Amino acid sequence: MTDHPRIPLAGVIGSPVAHSRSPILHGYWLKRHGIKGHYIPMDIAQADLAEALRILPKLGFVGLNVTIPHKEAILGLADIVTDSAAQIGAANTLVFHQDGRIHADNTDGTGFIANLRQNVPDWRPSAGPAAIFGAGGAARAVVAALIEAGVPEIRIANRTRSRAEAFRSDFGTRLVVQDWVRAGDMLEGVTTVVNTTALGMVGKPDFRIPLDKLEPGTLATDLVYTPLRTQFLVEAEQAGATIVDGLGMLLHQAAPGFERWFGQRPEVDEATREAVLAA
Ligand code: NAP
Repeated sequence: MTDHPRIPLAGVIGSPVAHSRSPILHGYWLKRHGIKGHYIPMDIAQADLAEALRILPKLGFVGLNVTIPHKEAILGLADIVTDSAAQIGAANTLVFHQDGRIHADNTDGTGFIANLRQNVPDWRPSAGPAAIFGAGGAARAVVAALIEAGVPEIRIANRTRSRAEAFRSDFGTRLVVQDWVRAGDMLEGVTTVVNTTALGMVGKPDFRIPLDKLEPGTLATDLVYTPLRTQFLVEAEQAGATIVDGLGMLLHQAAPGFERWFGQRPEVDEATREAVLAA
């Protein structure tokens, strides 16, 4: 036996994980809060996922972030799945309980809303319809969060229309599906607009949906944060929208995990943004 407390370990599992900014972010918070802990990126193949979850808690891990391609499969390996993770169909944050149970949550939706509230405190989700470009995994978290925040109607357009239609069966009649080729038309009268597609990201095709129907004062946000000022945000700003970039969502979705693993709620502020951007 030893009197020394174990140094808490956390990390991100996925494949690949080399691009993840989470180690920089959590490393920065650990240092800033003077916590003796470590956050480690781990490239784990699908076939090794169950084995990794069995072993990591024994090695001192208190929890994990989960990224592509394990976000959905992880639900089948967790003992406790939050309502949010179940509704979204994916988890991004695991907590290893001392009794051996694995708790799985999805913090993307709360991170998305926290980013908007921090940057636009007078944003009122109930003020009008929202328009969403894209119907992938991240869009599920955004739609669930907007519904919970009280958005009265959500218009959604996706290149693969069947994915948007599936949202309607999962999230109900507040959703209205729009054709991808006429996606710009759904902007009329909306007070919130979100790009959840990968369009505009470094290495991906440009975002080309016309924004001429966007009304001044609309809140426009992009989940893409490389580059920080995407073409979508630049054009939305030119149309008079209030814009919020996607980096804040990344920071805010990470905060609950850090707090559960290391016992302190981290600050999401300018210094945190700079630390992540500088790396
Ligand atoms: P995903 O499940 O793979 O979904 C990708 C979405 O982009 C789908 O709607 C897809 O349409 C659309 N898309 C991809 N290429 C397209 C193209 N050439 N033309 C039209 N649509 C295209 O990915 P995800 O996890 O939802 O992530 C989406 C984006 O959000 C990524 O850029 C990711 O980095 C970002 N993200 C950011 C945060 C944050 O914290 N800021 C969090 C999560 C995700 P189809 O269905 O037709 O393929």
